[in-house]
Amino acid sequence: MSLHRALSLFVVIVALLALSAGISLVLLTTYLHHTTVDLENSLQGVRLAEEMQIDLLNYVRSESESEKLKLENALRRALSESRRYVGSPDEGEALSDAARFLDMHFQTSRTGKEPPPGNLRATFGALERFVSINIEQANDSLRESERLDEFGDRIGITVGIVLAIGTTAILIWLSKVAFRPVFGIRDAMKEFATGRRHVRAPVHGPEELRGIAAQFNEMADTLARQHHNQAAFLAAVAHDLRNPIAALKTAAEILSGPAAKPDQLSSLMGVIKRQVSSLDRMVGDLLDSARIESGHLDLKFEECDARLIAQDVFNLFSTSSATHHFDLVLPENPIWLYCDRIRIEQVLNNLLSNAIKYSPGGGAVTLALKEDTDEVVFQVADQGIGISAEQVPYIFEPFRRARLPGVEIPGVGLGLSVAQRIVNAHHGRIPVETEIGKGTVFSVHLPTMNRKRASA
Ligand code: ADP
Repeated sequence: MSLHRALSLFVVIVALLALSAGISLVLLTTYLHHTTVDLENSLQGVRLAEEMQIDLLNYVRSESESEKLKLENALRRALSESRRYVGSPDEGEALSDAARFLDMHFQTSRTGKEPPPGNLRATFGALERFVSINIEQANDSLRESERLDEFGDRIGITVGIVLAIGTTAILIWLSKVAFRPVFGIRDAMKEFATGRRHVRAPVHGPEELRGIAAQFNEMADTLARQHHNQAAFLAAVAHDLRNPIAALKTAAEILSGPAAKPDQLSSLMGVIKRQVSSLDRMVGDLLDSARIESGHLDLKFEECDARLIAQDVFNLFSTSSATHHFDLVLPENPIWLYCDRIRIEQVLNNLLSNAIKYSPGGGAVTLALKEDTDEVVFQVADQGIGISAEQVPYIFEPFRRARLPGVEIPGVGLGLSVAQRIVNAHHGRIPVETEIGKGTVFSVHLPTMNRKRASA
């Protein structure tokens, strides 16, 4: 599970828990309020009923008419007040009975006759009933509030326990699943920084950390590869420099020695020229590569006929090897390009010299030029050793060299990377088609003048 998803889930669960605890508390307090109101009504009812019973006893004992009238009024007031606290039909009935018997008593006593004592006893009994109903109701309310109190305690304890367990679980999860991989990545970085280039970060834990570890491992692979390539590059540069320098040294020794014959001069000059141009090309590639790396590749764009570029490059190479035969395929009409002519020539020089170099057994080397809908395409084809499918994706990387078992061809692995950067700077591309043992075709696609204008 991803760190983000796990933490979101935890927050959602805590929020839901807090929401349900809040709703339960609101319902609980509303319920408790109702119960308290019921309890208060019952107690008020009991108080009034007991006051009425006392007034009734005083009424029975009193001899004075005015005192009796006062008590009668007080009883009637208390009766009507106690109706406000009636909460059930039984209570209402008890109060109505009490009022009815009391009325009967007062009416009889107003006629001057001696009222029968049964009415007052019945009133007393009705009030007694009213009191016991209210006491029962008060007990019910008390029991209800105790039940609610218990329920509230249970909710509080449950929410507390769930939160404590949830928080502990998330902390354990964070330290085991989330933090351990972080420490793993940190340790791998530390070790890598001390020079142990084979060390990689463990890829486990949440998605995000797996991504970071994989990213670090990829970067470590690239750095290790670059380190290896640079070492190989230095070895290749040293090796490649040694050959022309040794040839130049031998030529110089012969030329300066007494044994130098005039007919040897032109062949020795040819050797010197070739070796110097090979050295020049190597140093040029190194300089260009350094310029490209530091972002200082300046291009001087001009309008030119692509056929002339192809022709010039072809002339340079067409006599350079006796074991190859060279073909140039050009269209009849000019093809206009807006490019840095010298740099495009450099790209084609590189592709042609590779075509010769990587077909040691000879064969046809063809330079063709054609125009597609909105592209100019230079094609350099050979019948050489070819490149394996696994190595094709890497040949444009600086210092990368594809190797075939048993084939040893000198080079530093910079030509194609420089060529690709130059073509990219012209908004073009270099696809390659190749087959081991059959040959290779590099195509340089550049936008035509029309496309350049349209995109400008
Ligand atoms: P270099 O030729 O100095 O090694 P490049 O950058 O020109 O460097 O080429 C990179 C690699 O691509 C070469 O080492 C070689 O393995 C492969 N390559 C380039 N051109 C060809 C070709 N025409 N045929 C076969 N392999 C090629």
